[in-house]
Amino acid sequence: MSVAIAIDGPAGAGKSTIAKLAASTLGFIYVDTGALYRAIGLSAIRRGYTKEHTEQIVAMLDLITVELSFNADHEQIVLLNGEDVTGLIRTPEISMMASAVSAIPAVRAYLLELQRSIARTNNVIMDGRDIGTVVLPDAQLKIFLTASPECRARRRYDELVEKGMDVVFDDVLRDVVDRDYADSHRAIAPLKPAEGAILVDTSGETLDQSVQKLLKIMREHL
Ligand code: C5P
Repeated sequence: MSVAIAIDGPAGAGKSTIAKLAASTLGFIYVDTGALYRAIGLSAIRRGYTKEHTEQIVAMLDLITVELSFNADHEQIVLLNGEDVTGLIRTPEISMMASAVSAIPAVRAYLLELQRSIARTNNVIMDGRDIGTVVLPDAQLKIFLTASPECRARRRYDELVEKGMDVVFDDVLRDVVDRDYADSHRAIAPLKPAEGAILVDTSGETLDQSVQKLLKIMREHL
């Protein structure tokens, strides 16, 4: 039987960086489910839709394919209609659109089986907002990773600046706070700790400290 570790938490808590490193140490596949919502957000933006175009976005789902594959280094590749969009989905605009499309029940239903099927056939660390609560409720270990909004915004800001993007810290902080609010207050699969999840706060920690803390929890529980 395959092993699943669910990591949920708000934007910028360090889920992806920490989970990726932990997965490579444990020899698990790391699955970033946010990338799926981002690919759908990208598809909607390319068609000129805004977050108000719910009906059109639902209809769009019949016209597109979203897939995940993993390269030789076990890195996740996101394919939208067969096109590798991995490098295109990390902009603030797509973050907000991903959050908007993720509140549409048909979008969540569309992505559910894809996420579950990966976990059926691989040992995974899967990160998102509803992995422990909805996607993999039977995961052997559930972690809810968080950090203060300022700390998360600082990490996001540094990441975007490193990529050469022209961003203002206060805008990044506002996006983080708005996205947290939307993700936690939506009617379907809202962001919240799963029952039995271990709460981990990474505020003020270095990346290495957080990774070590998580690895310790994983080793103790698996
Ligand atoms: O994790 P990331 O920031 O890339 O996710 C982008 C958006 O996708 C989130 O703000 C959230 O609204 C949505 N999402 C979700 N459920 C998941 C993963 C992401 O609703 N499992």
